[in-house]
Amino acid sequence: MYDCVIIGAGPAGMSAAVYLNNANKKIIVLEKDTPGGKILKAKKINNYLGLDNIEPSDIAYNMYSQLMNNKIKINIEKVLNISKDDSKIIITTDKNSYITKYVILACGKIEKSLNLDKEDELIGNGISYCAECDGNLYKDKVVSVIGNNNESIKDAIYLSSISKEVIYINYSNEEVKFDHDNIKVINNLKVSELICENNILKGVKLSNEVVIEVDGLFILTGSTPNSKIIENLNINLDNGYIVVDNNMKTNIDNIYAVGDIIKKQLYQIVTAASEGAIAAVNIAKLIN
Ligand SMILES: Cc1cc2nc3c(=O)[nH]c(=O)nc-3n(C[C@H](O)[C@H](O)[C@H](O)COP(=O)(O)OP(=O)(O)OC[C@H]3O[C@@H](n4cnc5c(N)ncnc54)[C@H](O)[C@@H]3O)c2cc1C
Repeated sequence: MYDCVIIGAGPAGMSAAVYLNNANKKIIVLEKDTPGGKILKAKKINNYLGLDNIEPSDIAYNMYSQLMNNKIKINIEKVLNISKDDSKIIITTDKNSYITKYVILACGKIEKSLNLDKEDELIGNGISYCAECDGNLYKDKVVSVIGNNNESIKDAIYLSSISKEVIYINYSNEEVKFDHDNIKVINNLKVSELICENNILKGVKLSNEVVIEVDGLFILTGSTPNSKIIENLNINLDNGYIVVDNNMKTNIDNIYAVGDIIKKQLYQIVTAASEGAIAAVNIAKLIN
């Protein structure tokens, strides 16, 4: 039996693994894809203290190497289901099953896309899903925000303090107004096409065929946490995001959650790594 199985090898899961391994616990990390998680999607990361001017892929590789150097086991397997009784938790993957005392859910979230042609290729070259992550790439430039909720309105205001101009394309049914001279609102129109040159975004075509030139497009219409695998566990969710306490524990004993999959204020590497550490230290103390 494992002391703890960690699901997801993004910064949250890998941070938890380092702390639990340091506490001499028997652990394994299960990752369905590539260790590094969302870091690998970023064009540049310049807000993680101590890692200035390093390629995102190098940051991900350094994290992964730290696990390898410490002989922490990572299996590339997709977790399909988790079940629990009073004495153990059973994790079923596409290849194996694992029995463990504790589990840390660190599976992240998926940003909602507009499913436009070239949207994926342009991530980091004009397309972004996160104002705090990429806002400073567009200092004194013109950006557009596609939004449909209060969070996107707050993000548009945040971006207006960095960029020259923000064009808010309102995807909600309610009228939106800003008190900021450099925020312009477009109501009742959708983006129908991304205009790019040499794989760099140059503008967007609206549903009335008008093209507006922008340097960046922030698609802020929400995201979906990867919480499908816990459907049967009666874990408290808020809009799909896992609700945790200060120790990163869910409402279900022995099940913890960290990183982008939880309900929180700031979805960043720094918070993900911190939450992984908090969950791990708490679990290590309970096992002792
Ligand atoms: C384009 C982009 C740019 C960003 N830029 C920055 C930035 O500059 N600075 C910053 O601080 N943050 C940035 N972020 C946010 C940051 O990357 C995330 O907040 C952080 O990676 C969250 O870490 P996590 O470990 O919780 O989730 P993730 O990094 O998403 O990792 C989750 C892992 O779980 C795995 N997984 C999911 N489901 C399963 C399953 N069923 N079985 C096994 N494995 C599973 C996934 O494959 C993934 O590897 C950016 C995000 C994006 C999308």
